[in-house]
Amino acid sequence: MKFTITGSSNRCFSSSSSQNVSKEYDVVVVGGGILGMATAREILLRHPYLKMAVLEKEKDLACHQTGHNSGVIHAGIYYKPGTLKAKLCVEGLNLAYKYFDEHSIPYKKCGKLIVATDAVEEKRLHDLNERGMKNGVKDLQMVSASMIKEIEPHCQGICGLWSPHTGIVDWAEVTRSYGKDFTERGGKIHLHFKVTSFKEAAESSLTSKGDGNKYSVSVHGKNDVVKASYILTCGGLQSDHLAQMSGGKVDPKIIPFRGEYLLLNPEKQHMIKGNIYPYPS
Ligand SMILES: Cc1cc2nc3c(=O)[nH]c(=O)nc-3n(C[C@H](O)[C@H](O)[C@H](O)COP(=O)(O)OP(=O)(O)OC[C@H]3O[C@@H](n4cnc5c(N)ncnc54)[C@H](O)[C@@H]3O)c2cc1C
Repeated sequence: MKFTITGSSNRCFSSSSSQNVSKEYDVVVVGGGILGMATAREILLRHPYLKMAVLEKEKDLACHQTGHNSGVIHAGIYYKPGTLKAKLCVEGLNLAYKYFDEHSIPYKKCGKLIVATDAVEEKRLHDLNERGMKNGVKDLQMVSASMIKEIEPHCQGICGLWSPHTGIVDWAEVTRSYGKDFTERGGKIHLHFKVTSFKEAAESSLTSKGDGNKYSVSVHGKNDVVKASYILTCGGLQSDHLAQMSGGKVDPKIIPFRGEYLLLNPEKQHMIKGNIYPYPS
């Protein structure tokens, strides 16, 4: 189920088409999805003196996974307790809502209802509840069949697990907002810059930065090249190619698969108020 969120777009970051870009940076991040943009923004917030750039091959940020996902702000129910994933998901939800409020990004805290339809699923749902509780998921609760009807009148089940703080947001808009924060602090975003290779400069040809350090890597695109001291690649589904380009191993490889979701017709949308999930098989 996907909800449409309308709101003002934050596309006022400065970006440059990379025709004949020739620039030198302390840190270059490859990939303008949410991972690359959030990482670049955070590095610059922590180290404002750095010269930084993000290189993105598309005409805009968030054109791939980040702009085509189901927009859920996950609460951290499923992850194994004690793992970094569980900890970061629970913390990340709070930080995400704080960021959305501070930057007027529209979202809906519509909740998530996981529904059990038989006794086997009911038992598993209790286990999932325990897992979520251990992870510290706020206000998670088991609900009866009658409470399911109160939350989602058109939904049927023998019991449910209700997570009221799960929400939805347009992650592409969040990424553009990170881009705005980044460029306002002096970061550069080069769009239309597809990285095709990294080359380590020979010692004799290193360009001095004037502080005793040198730009040791050149990052090549079709028509452009930038130099950098450090490179970070956040290439989403191309991350294995970028890893190999930068001297990494062939494995792990990205395995493609296709996922689909459907939108309810407008006349049926009143039937569902939030996120309804089956027990994960
Ligand atoms: C169907 C689906 C549903 C999902 N639903 C949710 C959800 O509801 N909630 C949630 O939190 N997460 C969800 N996810 C996961 C989430 O979308 C991803 O984890 C996240 O978007 C990954 O971000 P990314 O920046 O790593 O990748 P991407 O958004 O794919 O960004 C990678 C970027 O790198 C760029 N790039 C790649 N190679 C190069 C190159 N050589 N040169 C320059 N640029 C390059 C690409 O153009 C791209 O913009 C979903 C994912 C999918 C597929």
